[in-house]
Amino acid sequence: MGRIALLPEVVRNQIAAGEVIERPASVVKELTENALDAGATQIRVDLEQGGVGLVRVVDDGVGMDASDLALAFEGHATSKLSESSDLEHISSLGFRGEALASMGSVARCRILSRPADAMVGASIVAEGGRVQEVVEAGGPRGTTLEIRDLFYNVPARRQFLKRTSTELARCVDVVQRLALAHDGVGFIMTSDGKRVFDVEPDMDFLGRIRRTFGAELADELVPVSESSNGMQIDGFVAPPRFARRDTSRQMWFLNGRMLRDKLLIRVLKDAYHGFLEPFKQPVAFLRLSLDPARVDVNVHPAKAEVRFRDSRPMFGFLVKALRAAVTQTDMATPGESLMDTRVRREQRESQTGYLPLPSRPSSGGQGPMVVREVSGRPLHEGGPPPAREFGAPDSTVASFEPKPGPAADAGEDWQTVDRFAGPFIQVNRTYIVRGLPDGFEIIDQHALHERLTYELMRKDVRENSVAVQRLLIPETVDCSRAHVGLLLGHKDALERIGIIIEAFGEGTLAVHGLPSRLKNPDAEGVVRDLIEILGHDGKLPDAEDVIEEVLHSAACRSSIMAGDELRENDIRSLLERAGELESDQTCPHSRPTRVRFTLADLEKAFHRS
Ligand code: ADP
Ligand code: MG
Repeated sequence: MGRIALLPEVVRNQIAAGEVIERPASVVKELTENALDAGATQIRVDLEQGGVGLVRVVDDGVGMDASDLALAFEGHATSKLSESSDLEHISSLGFRGEALASMGSVARCRILSRPADAMVGASIVAEGGRVQEVVEAGGPRGTTLEIRDLFYNVPARRQFLKRTSTELARCVDVVQRLALAHDGVGFIMTSDGKRVFDVEPDMDFLGRIRRTFGAELADELVPVSESSNGMQIDGFVAPPRFARRDTSRQMWFLNGRMLRDKLLIRVLKDAYHGFLEPFKQPVAFLRLSLDPARVDVNVHPAKAEVRFRDSRPMFGFLVKALRAAVTQTDMATPGESLMDTRVRREQRESQTGYLPLPSRPSSGGQGPMVVREVSGRPLHEGGPPPAREFGAPDSTVASFEPKPGPAADAGEDWQTVDRFAGPFIQVNRTYIVRGLPDGFEIIDQHALHERLTYELMRKDVRENSVAVQRLLIPETVDCSRAHVGLLLGHKDALERIGIIIEAFGEGTLAVHGLPSRLKNPDAEGVVRDLIEILGHDGKLPDAEDVIEEVLHSAACRSSIMAGDELRENDIRSLLERAGELESDQTCPHSRPTRVRFTLADLEKAFHRS
């Protein structure tokens, strides 16, 4: 007798279950998606013991008749596709016909269903792969599915389940995501009899986000809505300060399907590039609509991954659309967060992923603290128009009292009032304090100037218009012979970004020119950074990220330093020029350039509210 035999169906389904049904949250996902595919407008999800004891999903969708029920627990039984060409354009959430069969083989399941046009319904039971007869049963229009004692007959699987609270959290996450994706459908979710989540059918996307994650986040979101070439993106991006260490608040939906996709994680990374510390992940809620024929959803049994058929143009379109929205978010670093006690801060972090600022070393920060008022002079020739004046530029005492006037209304948008009015106070030759209509901000002069220098240099490089300042006397830098060779090997590429070097005997380089954007050029520092950056194997100076790194370091070394005394004019021109940037709220390393305190923050700090 041969050794090969076809596996019995129960075993086949159990094997499939290994891929489709990993934990209670997978049951919740499959059942809820089925309800959505059935056109439900109201879906109720009840759990017991984090879904291990029971997952019940009740919907008011099209329902199944007795003949459907007889097939429901069979493997590869589906109403959603019939021939292989259907796989090319799937618009339903399910299509593999595996979910119910899998559940039927690893749990105690019951379906009760009644189509809208039927007088009575029917029900069927499957337990550990044994499917019973369909029987007549009364019930409301729609379908109720009950999955009890998940993995009761597969101890090895049951053992891998986590604590009840963890499984519950995953189930809630699934329902929340599906609820976010499906306007027009109401959701109610309970756990051991207690309501844990709900949304009404008529709530829109933003309303659903607010219900799920709170107003603090929802009120700060900026909408995106763009289309190109048959692809549409809609949704919201959050200001960078909401970023977290993981991608759990990046919600992407493709034609109503929730998905996690490496490509889309990278899209968001690029859209927030320069506004976010590298280890942080932005928060965004985005819906993509795309002709189903342009994406392959049949990549993974749980259907969480997809393959885009033409990802390259899509990538560029998405990054551009998202970045435009990201730059509209309020990127200011709220001072209020700095005044939190540690406990409150930790609470906030766990809610929003917001982290306190890293303290940055500064050369001017050591000595005794000096507060110096920058001498007040009229802002412009002939003085500023009174309505735009909210400081007291002529007085010797700095006053941040807003003067009455249309632009100084408390509700006025920060962006529309004069952003560059004094007076300014320079603290410790490092920070600039400036009054605002509704509070004040503290600017890190070095960080802001660094951002400005960097952005201008990057623009020059992009536009191929780098201006070089030739040094009258070339500056020589001693370094090893290998390093001289390394940098000379990239001589031409460096020239394109404005760095002119020549050999100067063995073990010495001569710097002949640097970008004229650099105000206090530090040739030796630039060379040392280049060695550091290019010294890593395989890094070429033409690569976009290397150019960026070189420009960052040059900007950093050649900007106004902490410790430099600034006059009012210097400060104003710095602020004015920075105001033209895509964002003047973070430095190229994504640390804040300024921290803003609103009156509300002050009231909180002084226990007035
Ligand atoms: P798939 O969703 O991939 O088709 P499933 O195993 O999840 O496979 O479901 C099998 C079939 O059972 C579906 O194609 C659908 O016809 C039917 N079905 C499942 N759940 C429901 C429901 N809640 N309402 C109506 N029909 C359902
Ligand atoms: Mg399904």
